[in-house]
Amino acid sequence: MYKAKAYSAATPTSPLALDTIERREPTEGDVQLEILFCGICHSDLHQVRNEWSGMMPTVYPCVPGHEIVGRVTKVGSAVTKFKPGDIGAVGCMVGSDGTCPSCRDGYEQFCPNGIFTYNSADRHTGKVTYGGYSDSIVADEHFVMRVPGNLDLAGAAPLLCAGITTYSPLRHWGAGKGKKVGIVGLGGLGHVAVKLSHAMGAHTVVFTTSPSKKEDALRLGADEVVISTDANDMAKHATSFDLILDAVSAQHDINAYIQMLKRDGNITMVGLPGQPLPVAAFGLIYNRRSLSGSMIGGMRETQEMMDFCGQHNITADVEVIPIQKVNEAYERMLKSDVKYRFSIDMASLKAE
Ligand code: NAP
Ligand code: ZN
Repeated sequence: MYKAKAYSAATPTSPLALDTIERREPTEGDVQLEILFCGICHSDLHQVRNEWSGMMPTVYPCVPGHEIVGRVTKVGSAVTKFKPGDIGAVGCMVGSDGTCPSCRDGYEQFCPNGIFTYNSADRHTGKVTYGGYSDSIVADEHFVMRVPGNLDLAGAAPLLCAGITTYSPLRHWGAGKGKKVGIVGLGGLGHVAVKLSHAMGAHTVVFTTSPSKKEDALRLGADEVVISTDANDMAKHATSFDLILDAVSAQHDINAYIQMLKRDGNITMVGLPGQPLPVAAFGLIYNRRSLSGSMIGGMRETQEMMDFCGQHNITADVEVIPIQKVNEAYERMLKSDVKYRFSIDMASLKAE
């Protein structure tokens, strides 16, 4: 074991503050990273504040962060993909059993014994896993991704969650040329989804509650932007979408979006509001529409997404902040005041 610096929350209502945590020394299959950048996902906030207490209660102290890019500092003797000095990246998962049907099919995210990067039982330390708001992390190399060399590292970090969470359902539901795709909520996930959907060739429409984001949405690659509070604007798109990705973090009316799907159209929830959303069955039965969900992605698909982003030069639009501003960043994220992802420059933690 060795000691690492981190920012943790001690209770659901306490601010994140400097802490010292224990990490394992790399075992033979492990990679140790010095963390350079870590994105701030809305899931970090949900988890820190125990907003998912029903499904995933938070264990304190909680060190969030699952959009991690770093420099390899040590590798175990069996590691083949990385050597010290390389750049590696860790997303939402650091382990799975490797033997269940989901793991065998490349869907580690659905493994019943999956280990999330934070807030999962840590069999090495006997405590809980700690995420990327830290100066280092150790993970099995299977869960460490390669980062294409042309990508800016601060902007690449958010791909590890915002990127794969939107890439996976866009691919699964066939986003591409000739398809009309809606993206609801222009936040961290939403803005990466717009870039990906555009790069896949789909006609991409953004739904936002923030009129001030209209120009940005077009710049990011949207073909059209709808202000979702404007009923006339919404009515223009009735029964016209093949696919809608809902990336909203709070309570909202999804029935309005279900109505916009054409025959056999699908709406996929990636946003995770703490409370259930009411669904009108009438909206679904007409036109045989479907409502589904999607959770991050497997390791093979995460690497595929990173490589796709390398080919299309896609990174998140980031506001780089020092870790000392993390609590302020959470408040701004709650007000949808972020363009469009905070990325923590972890060099700032060294100074503490
Ligand atoms: P975010 O950056 O805060 O973006 C959320 C966006 O939702 C906001 O920018 C805003 O967009 C919209 N919004 C917020 N409050 C709203 C309200 N009351 N009504 C309507 N729209 C509202 O969050 P994020 O990091 O992208 O995460 C989004 C959600 O996805 C979170 O719940 C997160 O936990 C979840 N998530 C899920 C997975 C998964 O595997 N499924 C992975 C990562 C994250 P506009 O200003 O454009 O309206
Ligand atoms: Zn996330």
